Amino acid sequence: CGIVGYVGSAAPSNRPLEVTMEGLARLEYRGYDSAGVAVVTPDGLASAKRAGKLGNLRETLEAEPLPAGTVAIGHTRWATHGAPTDLNAHPHLSEDGRLAVIHNGIIENFQTLKVELLDAGVSFQSETDTEVVAHLLARAYAESEDLTSAMLAVTRRLEGAYTLLAVHAAEPGTVVGARRNSPLVIGLGDGENFLGSDVAAFISHTREALEMGQDQVVTITADDVRVVDADGNPAEGRRFTVDWDA
Ligand code: GLU
Repeated sequence: CGIVGYVGSAAPSNRPLEVTMEGLARLEYRGYDSAGVAVVTPDGLASAKRAGKLGNLRETLEAEPLPAGTVAIGHTRWATHGAPTDLNAHPHLSEDGRLAVIHNGIIENFQTLKVELLDAGVSFQSETDTEVVAHLLARAYAESEDLTSAMLAVTRRLEGAYTLLAVHAAEPGTVVGARRNSPLVIGLGDGENFLGSDVAAFISHTREALEMGQDQVVTITADDVRVVDADGNPAEGRRFTVDWDA
């Protein structure tokens, strides 16, 4: 339902997580039943997720703080496949725990993809349509060792509506996003960049934004924003300035 992504150039700190939690709070008006976050640190990937209000997730983060990171993603879920439980909340991780994905929308052909993955011996932790994307991305990443290429390969196989964000422990300065029939906006900062399902996700940090076109994939680092089309060719987002008051 709500999606936030952040990457900054400063040393690992709590800022990625703080910006992400604040963005999720600003997206609360859209309604949701669960929330979760992942941070990438120089030592790997860490995540937390809880059914219920953001307050539940905050309690978990206070009891078991995540390590300082350089990148964070956050999600508020409006369940479509699988009950609103802790396990079904996003992010969903690859089996090795090194890749995390969050998703708005519905993967219409997830059942076919899930059968294929189960046949290949993958074990699932949730009942969501989203989890297939985590496992497909992990398998594509094993081949290309590049998160953007993996996202391009996987989105070719997905049907339905999605905004997807993915992070990988081996790329601690990158968030990759993709969209089809579901919104994703890029926030342009100074030494930091943002992704949101809605400009509200980053409005208190920057008003300079890029709207993504259908079937485009974006890779953000602290200093760079790269948008490509479904074939991996460079594409342009539509630049705009947010002019309403937050
Ligand atoms: N279909 C996904 C799920 O049920 C995502 C729902 C959403 O957009 O929050 O987990």
